[in-house]
Amino acid sequence: MKITTLLFFILIGLTNVTLAQISIPRGLITKAETLSGDRFPFNAKTKKGVLVFSVEKPKPEMLNAIDKGLDDLFKVAKKYNYNAKTKHTEYVIFIANADREKDSAGNYVPNFAIPVGSYAGSIYDKGGYMYAAGMVLWAEPCAFMIAKHTKKFENVSEVVRFEGEHLILYHNDRKRYNETADHSKGGGHPILQ
Ligand SMILES: [Zn+2]
Repeated sequence: MKITTLLFFILIGLTNVTLAQISIPRGLITKAETLSGDRFPFNAKTKKGVLVFSVEKPKPEMLNAIDKGLDDLFKVAKKYNYNAKTKHTEYVIFIANADREKDSAGNYVPNFAIPVGSYAGSIYDKGGYMYAAGMVLWAEPCAFMIAKHTKKFENVSEVVRFEGEHLILYHNDRKRYNETADHSKGGGHPILQ
């Protein structure tokens, strides 16, 4: 266990040097691990420079879908003159294991399970945990977590665009961020249209 942890930190150390112009706070990794119950030993960069941590070697389709989701997000952000955090290289994305692959209607919608937190008692509460397609982890650097997909990669682009909305709002319009960050009282995505 000790060795695993040590190796992991060495890996992160290397990441700082070789992959990222972005500095990765150790707390960010810990948060992703704690919430998902996963480890993220694989890292990669998308063509446009998003830093990705993953439970397994990410498929090229997954990486391209991440770039596309941010393309879509930045395009709509420009309409509102939200210019902060509109570069792919400012984002870090964690790909967690899917704890559920289908929604209640049987559609392929990979979700990970996380502790309910502020969503306790809401419709999302499945008994102490809840399912999510994506979740914001950190504001600086911009970081969020999505579930691993094996098909329907257009869904990945959509989840990326939606989670990214919270971060764009956080950095460009804090009032609107506060009004839209918590979905337990209603409100969903897209926020920016
Ligand atoms: Zn949201």
